[in-house]
Amino acid sequence: MEYEVVIGLETHIELDTASKMFCRCSAQFFGAEPNTHVCPVCLGMPGALPVINKRAVEYAMMVGLALNCKIARYTFWERKSYWYPDLPKGYQISQYQYPLCYDGWIEVDVRDVTSGWQEHAERRRIRIRRAHLEEDTGKLTHAGNYSFVDYNRSGVPLLEIVTEPDIRSADEAYAYLSALQQIVRYLGVSSGDMEKGAMRCEPNLSLRPKGSDTFGVKVEIKNLNSLRAVRDAIAYEIERQTRILRAGGQIQQVTLGWDEARRMTVVQREKESAHDYRYFPEPDLPPLHISEEWLEAVRARIPELALARQDRYRREYGLSAYDAVQLTAERAIADWFEEALRTSSAPHSLPARAKAVANWIQTELFRLMRVHNVPLDNVWHIKVKPAQLMQLIELVEQGTINLNTAKQVFEEVFQTGEDPRAIVEAKGLAQISDVPTLRRVVEEVVSAHPQQVQQVLNGQEKVFGFLMGQVMKATRGKANAQLVNQLLREAIEASRT
Ligand code: ADP
Ligand code: MG
Ligand code: ZN
Repeated sequence: MEYEVVIGLETHIELDTASKMFCRCSAQFFGAEPNTHVCPVCLGMPGALPVINKRAVEYAMMVGLALNCKIARYTFWERKSYWYPDLPKGYQISQYQYPLCYDGWIEVDVRDVTSGWQEHAERRRIRIRRAHLEEDTGKLTHAGNYSFVDYNRSGVPLLEIVTEPDIRSADEAYAYLSALQQIVRYLGVSSGDMEKGAMRCEPNLSLRPKGSDTFGVKVEIKNLNSLRAVRDAIAYEIERQTRILRAGGQIQQVTLGWDEARRMTVVQREKESAHDYRYFPEPDLPPLHISEEWLEAVRARIPELALARQDRYRREYGLSAYDAVQLTAERAIADWFEEALRTSSAPHSLPARAKAVANWIQTELFRLMRVHNVPLDNVWHIKVKPAQLMQLIELVEQGTINLNTAKQVFEEVFQTGEDPRAIVEAKGLAQISDVPTLRRVVEEVVSAHPQQVQQVLNGQEKVFGFLMGQVMKATRGKANAQLVNQLLREAIEASRT
């Protein structure tokens, strides 16, 4: 029997606000000593009163809008009661009945990432059930007979995003999560870094006979610290469950953990009677009313997202899917690319210019940034400005310099921030396009290498490259290669006896 996998993802995203969700403690504590970013509120002291972080609510609304969700105009906070040492109050402030965001969807391009790059992608729509705001817990560390707790993370704003069970493969889950990560980065509301715990994902998964429209028994997988782990754990579970079902067995409803070292899932918890969280309205916080004006002001802050830009680059500039994906991987790069195009002096040839800019960014710019250890999202802090790249491209297009010289000039702009045109002038790098001058050099080379000229005449094309090289050498690389090519052909033909 053939089985089909059904997957729904629950994802927690830490919002990158300056302060915590309900107190003034700094939420930026990376590298700080344990328990140094705490106060009576986030330590759960009796009598301490929470206050809502407006910025966190706006960040959550931004994500909701980017995920095409409806935004609740009225919502309130609820206490989700459970006991664990990393939760000092004994309850978490969350949203249950009325999530801030609900009924949304996201479109993702699914590519088989294991088989390398594919120009083809399947576009899938995954529905978002809800996205609600809550607070993070502290962090437990276990060592020998001791456990340590650090409350720096306690009270950090957390957005929980839950999909409908619309995902149908490990690759699709991977595509959804990378798209979500890219969205929160584009919005600037979270690093989305799974390795650092800023994004945490729990897949729910079940199998059913292909063609069936009921759901099978689901398991939940925890402890996934990377996008790859999510894909691997899902692929592992599909295989394990298929084997059990084919052998006539039954799937137990359990919570699993992913063991990265052994590359397998392990049972963490057997099915327990449904949790009773005893939700009830948080009496210390007022309900949230979201006005039309506030919602529209937040909506206005949402930039064009990666997938929309990819489609536009392909439609308006005829770029390949590959180029479009590379250029939009980081918002800063996409913005930089677009700014370069805005400075183009020839709007009618935008597609050609776009292709040139795309090539320069993906080869020389990325190479130099890598060599100088500049992360791609810092592209606005480097010395080269978008207009300078455009100037360089125009110098090549006009024939003032050739491509090789342009690469040297680009490196110099990268180091000094000087304008390409100024560098070309100061260093006398403009290429030689003067025909009499070039003809003289070509003739010298031809008469100095009679044997090679004969070889070219006998059809040995490779030797033509050697003669080209001699001319370039004699002009210190500044000759207009196209002209040299033409003049050299003529001179060789003329020497045929
Ligand atoms: P629970 O109450 O166990 O947390 P929910 O109904 O809240 O379950 O759903 C949690 C997540 O699991 C959602 O993303 C949902 O889409 C997904 N889900 C629900 N049922 C199934 C199923 N049978 N198979 C796979 N995923 C499921
Ligand atoms: Mg659940
Ligand atoms: Zn605090």
